[in-house]
Amino acid sequence: MARRRQLYEGKAKILFEGPEPGTLVQYFKDDATAFNAKKKGTITGKGVLNNRISEYLMMRLTEIGIPTHFIRRLNMREQLIREVEIIPLEVVVRNVAAGSLAQRLGIPEGQRLPRSIIEYYFKNDELNDPMVAEEHITCFGWASTHDLDDMIALTLRINDFLTGLLLGVGITLVDFKLEFGRLWENEEMRIVLADEISPDNCRLWDAKTGEKMDKDRFRRDLGKVEEGYQEVARRLGILPEAGVRDMKGPEAIQ
Ligand code: UDP
Repeated sequence: MARRRQLYEGKAKILFEGPEPGTLVQYFKDDATAFNAKKKGTITGKGVLNNRISEYLMMRLTEIGIPTHFIRRLNMREQLIREVEIIPLEVVVRNVAAGSLAQRLGIPEGQRLPRSIIEYYFKNDELNDPMVAEEHITCFGWASTHDLDDMIALTLRINDFLTGLLLGVGITLVDFKLEFGRLWENEEMRIVLADEISPDNCRLWDAKTGEKMDKDRFRRDLGKVEEGYQEVARRLGILPEAGVRDMKGPEAIQ
């Protein structure tokens, strides 16, 4: 089969032209970056695990009526998605103080927040993804107040649902990052969940021991990075049957 045309290469994923108009193929790499790509590395098998974990979580979210860009997984490292216009915002939800919140405000890491917090960051590598307020977002036209209302409503539902789902397998959902896109269907636009949901963009702690099972293992050089991602997949009951070391590359599955 002829190789598909590459449209975009990001830090952890590559987007290829899809088989039909309005579709794309999202390829998950093993590359890992942190601190706005100042730290770079490879987490063997990460792409396979994130493809599988994100597929699983997006499918569960679809079942409760959350619209997403996900169509189906194609193989170990690729999934078919709907082409959307990405809203240039990172929407971060926090349930427990960690990372930049703990650092900036001096809140002890691990302290449960009295209520969940939503923050917005402007997606711009050159500017280091600065935190922005709703005023900036609407003033500069990155999203309308209506778009924001939709994004907030979806984000809160996603947070509640994923918090429960993960707690059921002994994982605390500390915080995570979402991205949304605009999808046009018959002249109508709706906001849908895009990107991925995986240990690359969530903080996931063992509910009993507090052990980290996410990208912080890489960011903070804690070791056993692959094992952390693998443990998340194992607990969700979705460890890839063939194992994560698919050195042969993508394989078509039906
Ligand atoms: N996050 C992300 N991409 C980013 C920044 C943050 O996926 O560019 C996720 C991160 O994995 C964490 C949450 O958003 O789950 C909150 O991150 P934080 O603001 O604490 O920043 P960090 O400590 O990751 O720099």
